[in-house]
Parts: sequence; C-alpha cells; structure tokens
Amino acid sequence: MELREIIEKSNLEIPKERVLFNELMKKYTTFKIGGPAECLIKIKKVEELKKVLKLANENNIKITVIGNGSNVLVLDEGIKGIILIIKIEGYNFYTLDNKKFVISIGAGEKIPKMGRIFLNNSLTGFEEISGIPGSFGGAVRMNAGANGKEMKDIVKSVKCVDYLGNEKEFSNSEMKFEYRRSILKDEKYIVTEVKIELEKGDKEKILNKMEEYSNSRKEKQPLEFPSAGSTFKRGKDFITAKLIDEAGLKGLCVGDAEVSTKHSGFIINKGNAEAKDVLELVEKVKEEVYKKFNKKIELEIEVIGK
Ligand SMILES: Cc1cc2nc3c(=O)[nH]c(=O)nc-3n(C[C@H](O)[C@H](O)[C@H](O)COP(=O)(O)OP(=O)(O)OC[C@H]3O[C@@H](n4cnc5c(N)ncnc54)[C@H](O)[C@@H]3O)c2cc1C
Repeated sequence: MELREIIEKSNLEIPKERVLFNELMKKYTTFKIGGPAECLIKIKKVEELKKVLKLANENNIKITVIGNGSNVLVLDEGIKGIILIIKIEGYNFYTLDNKKFVISIGAGEKIPKMGRIFLNNSLTGFEEISGIPGSFGGAVRMNAGANGKEMKDIVKSVKCVDYLGNEKEFSNSEMKFEYRRSILKDEKYIVTEVKIELEKGDKEKILNKMEEYSNSRKEKQPLEFPSAGSTFKRGKDFITAKLIDEAGLKGLCVGDAEVSTKHSGFIINKGNAEAKDVLELVEKVKEEVYKKFNKKIELEIEVIGK
C-alpha cells in the first residue's frame, strides 16, 4: 500500500490541514532549502505523536523529526516516509520560593517567544540564549548555546517519547550534555516537554541584556539572508570561522550558496540555493581549511532527507 493510502485509512485523529503530502521542505527550514516530504505531519499533542509512531512501526515507515528547522539542511531529493514537525505548545510556571521558578515548556515553543515571556515575568537566566531561532526540542537535543550559556545550564529535565511510543523523563545529568550535543544525538527519542529553572530578576536589566545580545547578533550575523546559523562546529583549539576567513574563503559561492562576507562561519542562501550547492561549498571549505591549516572542520548543521 502507498504511504498516502496507509495514512488516509488510519485513524490518527489529526486534522487534515496538519497532514500534508509532497510539501516542499524549503517552506519549513530557515535555510529555505529542501525538496518534497512524502508526508509531513504537524504534531500538536503527545497523543498524536504516539499514534503516528504506532502506525509507523506497524508499517515500517521511516520517521524524521524537526522543530523549527533552523539547524538542518534538507536534501533536494526530499524526505521519504513521514516527517514530524513538533509543534507541541504551552507552558506553565511553578514557583519554589518566589525567587526560583521552574517552567515546563512544550517542545514546539520557540526560544525567542519564550524569551519575551520570561522578560515580561522578570525572570533572569535566559537572556543569553533568547535570540536562538529554534524550538525547545531542537535546542535541548543540540544543547544550543550563545553568549557563554548553553541549554545545559538551565535545563532541569526533558520529557521524551521513544520510537515505540514509551514516555521517559531525562534529568539534566542523564541528558549527557556536551558542546552541541546530548544523549538524544545517540538515542532515538522525541522531545515533548522541557523543564527549565530561572530566577526572579530586575526587568530593566533583563531587557538591557537581551537588547545588547540582539544588537550584537544583528551586527555580526547575516540575518538578512536565509541560513541555518553557524554551518560548522567550533574546533577544540581553533575558531572555525577565523580559519575560513584567513583561508580567504569569504564570499566563495557555489550557485546561490555563499560563505557569508559578514560572518565566514555562516553559509547563506542568496536566493535559489539548493542543498547540492551547499554541500559542494561545504566540501570546498573543508578542503581549503585542511590544506592551509591542517585542521579538520565538522558540520554543525544536520543533513536530513531521503
Ligand atoms: C540565524 C541563526 C542563528 C543561530 N544561532 C545559534 C546560536 O547562537 N547558538 C546555537 O546553538 N544555535 C544557533 N542556531 C542554530 C539553531 O537555531 C539551533 O541549533 C536550534 O536549537 C535548533 O532548533 P530547531 O527547533 O530549529 O531544530 P531543527 O533544526 O528543527 O532540528 C535540529 C535537530 O534536532 C532534532 N529535533 C528537533 N526537534 C526535536 C524534538 N522535539 N525532539 C527530538 N529531536 C528534535 C532534529 O531531528 C534535528 O536533528 C542558529 C540558527 C540560525 C538560522
């Protein structure tokens, strides 16, 4: 049976407008790149997620997951099977002693939106991270970070569902956070909720910090073009963007993919770049940096598809 038929005959109880076929993934990634998804389902509830996983298991359907699509490069050939976009929303505040607050947040909530909510509630501890354009699910998996702070510094626990539909809650230490990775990079779980801890602070100070970080982002990063943020990881003993810059690679293009002239750590999409252009450019950058500095650089963005 065709995938479409399997899904249409099943009893997923997900509204039709959230179950789409042959959708171009470029609509769902900040890179604005990506071919068609055989089936794309926007998940709003844990129960929906469990039902889709059950169906996928019974029919041997490949599952791929994204959040806000801000750290992925989707291949031009698209994605086979079902791609789940985790859009589980909502948040709750719990106070421990009127100073410390635990906030449980749906994995689909966006970091910048929550940053504004924490500001409105005078909660400090999130300012550094508040400009990262991802979902909470993607951010904990990647242990996203900025301005000297990472998700690991604020996360208390992470609720997940495994690919068989079983729920599990990981404590901070069980998440095994490291630079841009966590246990969720090695083990197949889908994040449904994240609990973080913040403190009461001074609203004006929080606002000032957020504005400072936001201005610095606008000044340094090519936010006027689609991208997936830093293309490469920082090296153990070197700053990758600096090596790319010193290798004279700023402005290097393949098709519409370009090593940003504003920030050499970013590959940007100047218009109609395809995944194959980005991948060819990535290889050229890796080769040149290795030739000039004898350093191997690694991708931070994740390539997904087919
Ligand atoms: C302009 C720009 C600036 C950026 N700045 C930063 C920065 O300062 N610091 C930083 O760390 N990153 C930065 N990023 C990269 C990116 O925003 C982060 O990595 C972010 O955490 C990714 O979240 P996402 O929801 O977009 O994940 P996606 O890109 O959708 O997915 C990334 C990975 O996480 C997985 N995933 C997503 N959601 C879930 C879930 N619910 N459960 C399980 N797995 C999931 C996906 O399968 C994929 O493997 C930037 C990106 C852009 C475009």
